[in-house]
Amino acid sequence: MNTARTHADTFSLSGRVALVTGSARGIGWGIARGLAEAGAHVVLNDLDPAALETKLAELKAAGLKGSARAFDVTEEAAVTAGIDAAAAAEGRLDILVNNAGIQRRKRFVEFSYDEWRAIINTHLNGSFLCTRAAIPHMEKAGYGRVIMLGSIAVQSPKAQISAYAAAKGGVTSMVKALAIELGPLGITCNAIAPGYTATEFTKVLHTDPAFTAKLMERVPSGRWGQPHDIAPAAVYLASPGAAFVNGSVVTVDGGYLAFG
Ligand code: NDP
Repeated sequence: MNTARTHADTFSLSGRVALVTGSARGIGWGIARGLAEAGAHVVLNDLDPAALETKLAELKAAGLKGSARAFDVTEEAAVTAGIDAAAAAEGRLDILVNNAGIQRRKRFVEFSYDEWRAIINTHLNGSFLCTRAAIPHMEKAGYGRVIMLGSIAVQSPKAQISAYAAAKGGVTSMVKALAIELGPLGITCNAIAPGYTATEFTKVLHTDPAFTAKLMERVPSGRWGQPHDIAPAAVYLASPGAAFVNGSVVTVDGGYLAFG
């Protein structure tokens, strides 16, 4: 069997349709832009339709292909309707990036049940709902890439993020279970585990010089990550070149976990 492929084909997403949840800002937007630059039509998703329209205009102004679907990843009916509508409008769905997320930092005993549930719901249940809705479209497209957002918090958690660490642990375990189940269908499932990345999500941390100084003792690359640092990992995992990568977690953390 001749499996030779040109370098350009290996990483090209031309003709592919990708949906990125929570992509009106931060890492999701960085990933959406990266996938679009690799040739994909990117369906932007987030809660706020106005924010999505602004980012869609930015994508199009750069000569890239995209559309927008606002829905809440925790709302079962809205997820199914949004993903089905996106696949119908664009003719296919090949790539799903489960990126939408929220954070609450507080001591474990101070978490209300509602706060705990909201975090588990967004990261873990949202990834379940979106992936379940996307799989039939990937089977139909004959191409499938599910990419989860994990975190270095799975291996290296901190105080006050117990719900988040639990949610990301669940997402990371789901990656392996799905790889086993979806591999025979030609669909891969992998995760990206970003390190500390400067977004709205971490604003309270990256605007604190004392926190940053302490953090840099553990980041060999000597800086905060940026959304554009995370995007290339998503392009790789979404590409034809990553067809044999399944059940993996790609860590992008400036070397943070190298300290163990
Ligand atoms: P941001 O807070 O900057 O962006 C998250 C986006 O997700 C926001 O636009 C938010 O919308 C949206 N969102 C939240 N809830 C929902 C929902 N229910 N349905 C649809 N969209 C929703 O976060 P980051 O970009 O930093 O994080 C993105 C992902 O990366 C998350 O999964 C996070 O856990 C992960 N990550 C981030 C790290 C970091 O250091 N930043 C490190 C490791 C992992 P709205 O503003 O309206 O709430």
